[in-house]
Amino acid sequence: RLSKLPHHKTLDEYDFAFQPELDPRKIRDLATLAFVQAKANLALLGPPGVGKTHIAVALAVAACRAGFTVYFTSLDDMVRHLTAADAIGRLARKLHTYLRPNVLVIDEVGYQPLERAQANLVFQVISKRYEKGSTLLTSNKSFGEWGGVFGDEVLATAILDRLLHHCDVVAINGPSYRLKNRLTAIDGQ
Ligand code: ADP
Ligand code: MG
Repeated sequence: RLSKLPHHKTLDEYDFAFQPELDPRKIRDLATLAFVQAKANLALLGPPGVGKTHIAVALAVAACRAGFTVYFTSLDDMVRHLTAADAIGRLARKLHTYLRPNVLVIDEVGYQPLERAQANLVFQVISKRYEKGSTLLTSNKSFGEWGGVFGDEVLATAILDRLLHHCDVVAINGPSYRLKNRLTAIDGQ
């Protein structure tokens, strides 16, 4: 649900001049939501503070306004809710939360490494959404590091296989916007 969004940022509020290596045309192209229509995926990769969540939220809001159903979650929250549901025999029902929406945003893949059983739950979501809906995720880890994130190379490869078959990958390599003012303050001393 959109009420779960961490904030309501738009692309108009994103300062492309601060992130010169990111091509604004690429993001504006994504904002046409053709990838959502095509049930394709989007991965936003990069270090903290470059605006991955900002752009994911902006696209989610745009998709919602365009009439698509959208659900926003962090990977950790999704895994916690699925694990809890599984423990009381309600996994299938809880999975629907993540399978039903046209657009599922999974924020913060890679901040916490997962146990095998948790990684398996993620695989179920990704494989069941494959070619049925758009999955939009953000990660501070490159795909090569996903084996470590999911605790298992075979499982990570299986997840990436489904995810990347139809997927735009946008790597944002640049400075953290969160540190912008702080660094300016230090420079000015
Ligand atoms: P990430 O998810 O990559 O760690 P966020 O999207 O949470 O980063 O961005 C951190 C904060 O900085 C947010 O408040 C976001 O709106 C803002 N921000 C990041 N990049 C930009 C930018 N280029 N222009 C304007 N605000 C930005
Ligand atoms: Mg983020």
